[in-house]
Amino acid sequence: MKKVVQKFGGTSLASQKSRTQAAKHVLRSKKSGSFPVAVVSAIGRKGDAYATDTLINMAKKTSETISPREKDLIMSCGEIISTVIMVQTLKTLGIEARAFSGAQAGIITDNKFGEATVKSVYPQKILAAIEKKIVPVIAGFQGINENGEITTLGRGGSDTTASILASVLDAECIEIYTDVEGVMTADPSLVETADVIKETNYNEVCELAYQGARVIHPRAAEIAMQKDIPLKIKSTFEEKPGTIIENKITINEDRPVTGVASRKQISFVKISSDNPTEYATCLKIFEFLSQQRISVDFINIRPEAITFIVKKDLSEDVKNTLETKNFNYTISDDFTKVSVVGGGMTGRPGVMAKVVKTLTNKNIDIYQTTDSHTTISCLIKKKYEKKALKALHKAFALGNN
Ligand code: ADP
Ligand code: MG
Repeated sequence: MKKVVQKFGGTSLASQKSRTQAAKHVLRSKKSGSFPVAVVSAIGRKGDAYATDTLINMAKKTSETISPREKDLIMSCGEIISTVIMVQTLKTLGIEARAFSGAQAGIITDNKFGEATVKSVYPQKILAAIEKKIVPVIAGFQGINENGEITTLGRGGSDTTASILASVLDAECIEIYTDVEGVMTADPSLVETADVIKETNYNEVCELAYQGARVIHPRAAEIAMQKDIPLKIKSTFEEKPGTIIENKITINEDRPVTGVASRKQISFVKISSDNPTEYATCLKIFEFLSQQRISVDFINIRPEAITFIVKKDLSEDVKNTLETKNFNYTISDDFTKVSVVGGGMTGRPGVMAKVVKTLTNKNIDIYQTTDSHTTISCLIKKKYEKKALKALHKAFALGNN
């Protein structure tokens, strides 16, 4: 039987009206002969009653620290609530559905609470439901480890759940439903002239996602790429084609840049050294951090200082390591990494020059740059994020400029 995995994000589930709209997409697939498997996030966004942040805050209000195990347990509740409410909503449209937690769906992860990796999936229960024409509604963002403990997959984890299930179930397509029209040339909440990227390939979308376009999680795009499962990003609320992502889509070589993105949830770490012996010791930081599976980015190694960025929510762990190992360091949350991304920039001269000129003309200081085949990134002060994105978006003639 043909199957499609449909993932609904928090805002798509925020009200009964939006849940009904989401359910209609499930109904449409069911009618069209591609059996739907739904994956849901927690209802709403930050501040809403069952949103992930609300649940953590509730626990922290009672006692400030929370163990990773308990944190994952409470965080997993948001998605579980969504599954049941979505099953109830589907019933109102005459669709028989069944709710599954990550554990019930057979999603087995490693032991890393808060950022677990899926190791294997035992989808028998899901397949049994499909066999009986019952739509499975699965809690995204979570699994269970081999000791029977509930784990979560980190931010954007529901996208990953959708891709993993699509891969295991051999789905013909993954549909990610969200509150914007698709993957856009910039975050539309920061750049008003952003427009939908109608089609792209996994590499480009992975890179955009990795550089901060949170509309899709990069891991989810990677998993879809491995099995070449077409990935569609669409609006829950508007009947529009959205973005289609497939390997066979070729990049428009005439256009060096496809989109701009920014990462502001970062901490900038600087380790200073006064002499060569100290410098050699400083380099060990990368070993210490990798032992803790903390990945670093934007690394710059100079004799007098080593700088890099880490995800902001890992900065406490980094701080602890730097303290215990007696490093001379500073950590700042004042920076943003802005990037221009495009598969067409490979081998094209002048892109970096244009980025630098554009930011400089706007009096935005650049503290560091990196470039790869598909991306040029600059570290700038957080307060200039919007200004920089708008300027770059315009300079590369993206969207409705
Ligand atoms: P969901 O709850 O549906 O997973 P997210 O908040 O994770 O929704 O992702 C959707 C949001 O991603 C949009 O509301 C938009 O502000 C933001 N976003 C950032 N960059 C982009 C981009 N390049 N294209 C589309 N949306 C983007
Ligand atoms: Mg998301």
